[in-house]
Amino acid sequence: MPSMNDALELRQPRTVEQLVAGQPTQDGAGVRLTRVLHGPMMQRRLDPFLMLDAFGSDRPDDYIAGFPDHPHRGFETVTYMVAGRMRHRDSAGHEGLLTNGGVQWMTAGRGVIHSELPEQEEGVMEGFQLWLNLPGRDKMCAPWYQDFPAEQIPVWRGPGLQVQVIAGRCGSGPGAVEGAMQREATAPLYLDIHLDAGARFEQPLPATHNAFVYVYRGELSIGERAVPVQRMALLANTPDSDGVRLQAGDAPTRALLIAGQPLGEPIAQYGPFVMNTEAELRQAFRDYQSGRLA
Ligand code: MN
Repeated sequence: MPSMNDALELRQPRTVEQLVAGQPTQDGAGVRLTRVLHGPMMQRRLDPFLMLDAFGSDRPDDYIAGFPDHPHRGFETVTYMVAGRMRHRDSAGHEGLLTNGGVQWMTAGRGVIHSELPEQEEGVMEGFQLWLNLPGRDKMCAPWYQDFPAEQIPVWRGPGLQVQVIAGRCGSGPGAVEGAMQREATAPLYLDIHLDAGARFEQPLPATHNAFVYVYRGELSIGERAVPVQRMALLANTPDSDGVRLQAGDAPTRALLIAGQPLGEPIAQYGPFVMNTEAELRQAFRDYQSGRLA
């Protein structure tokens, strides 16, 4: 299929190192979700990303309980609501309603206590929450928060392609589109890519950045490897590689492409706290128990 995007013509696209199936689990007050990225091994391999949860259901029992008050320290959460309504309130005084196609970017920094509660009693709720690490020097920064309604998410378009550019830069050269968010230390790229059947998409990626693709509709291939729906394709960091090429199958396909610059720092996690050392974790827990976290 001809594509404007053909102009890019990657010399050495990345290959798939591993396909990963998410793990069904529950969190919050009993929300059913699929934990796609988790655990110390994946956190090291996909540094600076700490977690990716996918949620999607039309059964209110799966989501209605939401995530009542809970703390975070030491990283950022990026919530992308594909469909549904979720209200956020936090101890820093922020409040927002996240709706269809909207993104909430929260920097927990030294600490927030917040709730994330559905504002719907029926219908589909579908989306993703990504945890992005902060470098040690920023872990105790002031909390920060911004809502981006769908109309504030820049869109990159090509033949058979539409890309929501949540973070980083989509494409290259004069046609590139800057995303809603940029972060210096981790240089995150966060794209929601909609491909028509048979469409092809290419994105340049620095070879040293860790990257993965999560397919949530349809099916695509990366090189010779087919990536079915609800699978994460972890992309190899081949030294001379210059990007990734996605080829949609016979059906319309949607996938997240997420990449970032690794921090290369120790990761110490206890639940909703992610620091560099065990001592800092104990401090976070003491601060939370004594009401000094937020
Ligand atoms: Mn939370």
